[in-house]
Order: sequence, then structure tokens, then C-alpha cells
Amino acid sequence: MTDRYQTFTRTSVGRVLVKNLGLPDPIPLPRWTDGSAWIDGPVVFGAIGDTDTGKAIQALLRDIGATFSTAAEGVASSELRPKALVFDATGATSTADLTSLQRFFSPMIRQLGSAGRVIVVGRTPELSATPEQQIAQRALEGFTRSLGKEVKRGATVNLVYVAPDAHDQVDSTLRFFLSPKSAYVDGQVVRIGPGHLVANDPAAPLTGKVALVTGAARGIGAAIANVLARDGATVMGVDVPQNANDLRKVMSAIGGSELLLDVTSIDAPQRIAAHAEEDHGGLDIVVHNAGITRDKRLANMRTDAWDAVLDVNLRAPERITAHLLESGALRDGGSIIGVASIAGIAGNNGQTNYATSKAGVIGLVQALAPTLAERQIRINAVAPGFIETEMTAKVPFAIREVGRRINSLQQGGLPVDVAETIAWYADPASAGVTGNVVRVCGQSMLGA
Ligand code: NAD
Repeated sequence: MTDRYQTFTRTSVGRVLVKNLGLPDPIPLPRWTDGSAWIDGPVVFGAIGDTDTGKAIQALLRDIGATFSTAAEGVASSELRPKALVFDATGATSTADLTSLQRFFSPMIRQLGSAGRVIVVGRTPELSATPEQQIAQRALEGFTRSLGKEVKRGATVNLVYVAPDAHDQVDSTLRFFLSPKSAYVDGQVVRIGPGHLVANDPAAPLTGKVALVTGAARGIGAAIANVLARDGATVMGVDVPQNANDLRKVMSAIGGSELLLDVTSIDAPQRIAAHAEEDHGGLDIVVHNAGITRDKRLANMRTDAWDAVLDVNLRAPERITAHLLESGALRDGGSIIGVASIAGIAGNNGQTNYATSKAGVIGLVQALAPTLAERQIRINAVAPGFIETEMTAKVPFAIREVGRRINSLQQGGLPVDVAETIAWYADPASAGVTGNVVRVCGQSMLGA
């Protein structure tokens, strides 16, 4: 679906109207392509003190060949057009230290380049050594979310909380947030815990891994299959028999295998496990993407519409996950990813069934993350906002336009934006990333 308004804003008449009337200006966001740089411009790094996390960030910046300078306080210079501002606030031990945020960012924020990146790195508040530190660290959330709403020209602002002793886990997450892979992830807070060290090739981090993707025939599921395959995974795509042709096209383009079934069928978990064992010897990545909507206000909600949505979106992921774990088809060290929705966080008129199911997906992540850690299995979720797919093309025009504009980037996301976020979760180098729910919504006004 094309965003006609965005196309119009790129014409000469459109540009004049946008400028003179102060209309939304949804600049086209660069996406990752083969050969993209992790960051294609200068980075300015600031910090409160000299911390292990700060050292790890600087080592990563060197590793990816970024041109970077360090500055305790920002410098206003029209010559410096930073592509990214990275600030290590893990050293903040009391609210007095929050002054450093303003001193670093205020002089430079206006200079931030187009589709720029701001990454604030903090210490996980609840793991702080003192109440004073916890207060200061928690305060970073308000800073990040507000700055996300202030920056312009397609820039994003995100906060990464690092647990004590987890500074060696920051690489895959910083690469993701610096790069165009995170184009539509804005105003988010991510938590990284300790994990084992994985030295894989960042250009093909999923080499040798087998990934199950449900609902892979089209839309977001097809994009997930493509991106996981691009990163080296062998993909096993599942979809309903009615979509056999579409699924075949997607899978044959990436050398994946197909399994036609309804994820709600009674024997779906067993058939998925058997296919994975027979064709691939097991699974490393499970993406529960298949989902449906049957919208009606609760007063008009039919029982079959309620049940269908709960069955596909929540009960199927729950049952399939349980069986893959019990049967051992999902190997230790694996990664499970749920696809929730901002409707599951904020609620939405006419979507009590859908929002219940999607909030349940978040519940699945929170319930399983602690116990699965023993097997080094990680579980996370994405919560997409307005993504341009067949699902959203069916939304009435006026609601669709509102959906596109009520976020900091003033446009809908693309299926690939959800897929890239899932690929970051699935990367074995993201060993410390579990229990997270990241919204892929351009910092939508809906939801926290
Ligand atoms: P879509 O309707 O374009 O594709 C969904 C796919 O899932 C289809 O191929 C469909 O056949 C398959 N599927 C549905 N029921 C199934 C079943 N019972 N068994 C097997 N396969 C089944 O939807 P999409 O927009 O690509 O959405 C993908 C996921 O993202 C869904 O979970 C959806 O709820 C979620 N999501 C989408 C958006 C958005 O804006 N598009 C926003 C938030 C969340």
C-alpha cells in the first residue's frame, strides 16, 4: 500500500505546503541493504565517568569503523553533523548526575543528521546499588521518550538498560539501534542482562540456525522469513492450506521448507515438531507471527469471533511453545519471539478480543523468560504499531490516515521493520536480551 500523502510531500508543491502550513513531514526512512554501513556518518560519544559499559561501546564503535569523537559536554558546531549521539549514563549514581544529559545533548541535538540516531545507555534501575542510583537511572526513560518526540527528519531515540556485569553483551543491540535496521523503532526501552559470549559473523549471524515462522505466506511473516534467511537461517514456513501458492513462492525464493497447516488445529504442535526434526534435525528460532483480527465492539462481539482471535493469536503460540520445549524440538540456546501489538498495550476500540490475545502474548514472554533462562533459551516480543500490510489496507481510509500519522515518524512502518527487530532478537549474540517487549511503531501515541 503506498502512502500517497508521503509521496505528495516529496513533490515541489508538497514541500512548500508542508513548510508553510506546518503539515506532517514523513521523510522516507533509509532501510538496511546489502553493503549498508552500520552507521554512515560521525558519532559523538558522551559519558558520565569512565565505565566498563562506556569502554565496551567505544570498542564497538571502533569495530564497526565509525568515525567518532568523545565529548563530556556538547559542542555547537554547524560543521559537525553527527549521524548518531551515544551517551553512556550507566555512571549516574544520583539525580545530580542528570545535569550531564542536558549539557551533552542541548548544544548538539539540532545538528543531528537526517535519520539520525540517539542512544542513551543506562544501568537497569531495579538492579541499582542504591535508591539514589535507581531514581537517577529510572529518570532516563522520561528523557528518552520526550527527546524521541522532539527530534525531526526521521531520527530515533532509544534507551538501552544494561545490567551489572552485562557490558560485554551490548554489541548486537548497539549495532541494531545505530543501523537502518531499527528505522521504525523509536522511543523504546530495552533491557540487556548477562549472557554467554557469542562471536559470530554480524553479516550472517544466523548461519546454521533453523527458524520456524508461522503465517509466512505474506505480509510481516514473509518479510520475517526473508530477513532471517538473509541472515543465514534455514526457514521453515507455516501457513494455512488456502495460502499454499503464496507460501511456496516465499519459501522457494529463500530455499526454505513449507508446512501447510492451521496453527489452531489439535495436532499442529506435534506436526510442527515432527517436520522440524525430520527435515532440519530441530529448531533454534520460533517466530509466532500468524495472527488475525475480527473487530467488533464487545456489545456486538460474537462468540466465534472472540474464540477465533484468541485461538490463533494466543492459544496456538502457547500450545506450540509448550510442545516444542517439552519435546526438545527447540534446542537449548534457542530463541522464541512473539508478535504482539500496540493494541495489546494501549487497548483499542473494537478490539477487546485482539487486545486480549496480544496482551496475552506479552504475558507469555514475561511468564516464560525467567525459567527458560536455565536452558539459555530467550523469549521476547515485538509489538508492531501501524505496519503497511494487507491487514491494515482493510482499515477504513480515515482511520488508516490517523494510524499513519500519530507517531513521531509520521508514517506507517514496513513489514521489514518488524522483521529486522525479530532478527536482532534471534541473533545468538543477543544472548543477554530476554523478557523484552519492543514496540515497532515509530513511537506511536498509543501505548506506553
Ligand atoms: P496478514 O493477514 O497480512 O498475514 C497473516 C498471515 O498469517 C497470513 O498469511 C495468514 O494466512 C496466516 N494465518 C492466519 N491464521 C492462521 C492460522 N490459523 N494458521 C496458520 N497461518 C495463519 O497479517 P500481517 O499484517 O502480516 O500480521 C502479522 C502479525 O503481525 C499478526 O500477528 C498481526 O496481529 C501482527 N500485527 C500486525 C500489525 C499491522 O499493522 N499489520 C500491527 C500489529 C500487529
